[in-house]
Amino acid sequence: MCEFCTKHGEGKKWYLQIENYADELLYEELSSRQKDIIEVKTRVEYLNNLFENFVMPAISNLSTEKDEPQHAPTSTKPEDVLPSEETSLINRKIEHFGQILPIEDAEEVINIASSITRMACGCRLINAGKKDERYHFGLMVDRRGTFDKFPDAASSLEVLDKEKTKEIFRRYDEDGMIHMIWTAVTPYVMCLCNCDRDCSNYKKYIQKRGGPRFFRAEYICKVDWNICKGCRSCMSRCQFGAKTYSAALGKVFIDPTRCFGCGVCRATCQNDAITLIPRHESTEAANIWLKDTTR
Ligand code: SF4
Ligand code: SF4
Ligand code: SF4
Repeated sequence: MCEFCTKHGEGKKWYLQIENYADELLYEELSSRQKDIIEVKTRVEYLNNLFENFVMPAISNLSTEKDEPQHAPTSTKPEDVLPSEETSLINRKIEHFGQILPIEDAEEVINIASSITRMACGCRLINAGKKDERYHFGLMVDRRGTFDKFPDAASSLEVLDKEKTKEIFRRYDEDGMIHMIWTAVTPYVMCLCNCDRDCSNYKKYIQKRGGPRFFRAEYICKVDWNICKGCRSCMSRCQFGAKTYSAALGKVFIDPTRCFGCGVCRATCQNDAITLIPRHESTEAANIWLKDTTR
């Protein structure tokens, strides 16, 4: 279990705990530590800022920022007093942090969420100029009065039922989108995302090898070499470079120290040779949640 499960899930998956979706969290006053980092008094204030500065530009195709982190931190501190990378990571975990989850767990989250709103993806607009790409699913957006507060956005926000949402997620999974869950002042859960290489956090963390933005999944995958035919069709699907091909053996191998456990490679395997196992069952990967520390 990742550290959020220990701190916010009593040793179970934190994102499946109903209390982390509770309305009470939205309006409770933040602690002085949280306020110092985030510079707002409540989560609802934080979410309104986020909506205004990240979601609204995506909806209206008005992105002015290039290469900004997704859900940019609200801190206004000047650069010469910016914290160290270690402190930044601690702060990001307090403010806004993600975790990869496979389709099975994404569906469980959808079952828990009492309201799901599909909306435009800010990362794809910022990084690829793609307009109205609707891969971002806000949770409880309508329940906190967002539609009234941002009437210009209301027509492009699609409130979906659970079955429709799951159907869309399964389609995205087949297409190779990785699913991520994000907090808004941890542990409050604010959204489920379907991301590719245009995700700002993926770019910053994985492509540019910057500070961590999300945990690996509670799983890793493995290939059954008795079944694998070595077709290699699963290799390009992996956004984390976890797969290698052995020409000598004619099989694909997964490096457990690189696998983030997204599970999207499974859909490419016509032979059902790839399965997910709980991360703790892997001696090599059990305690790897953030950067690969082995290289
Ligand atoms: S996290 Fe993913 S779905 Fe959400 S805005 Fe970024 S790329 Fe889009
Ligand atoms: S897609 Fe399946 S059969 Fe093909 S290389 Fe990958 S694991 Fe092996
Ligand atoms: S090998 Fe691991 S990280 Fe790569 S696609 Fe498969 S589950 Fe995801």
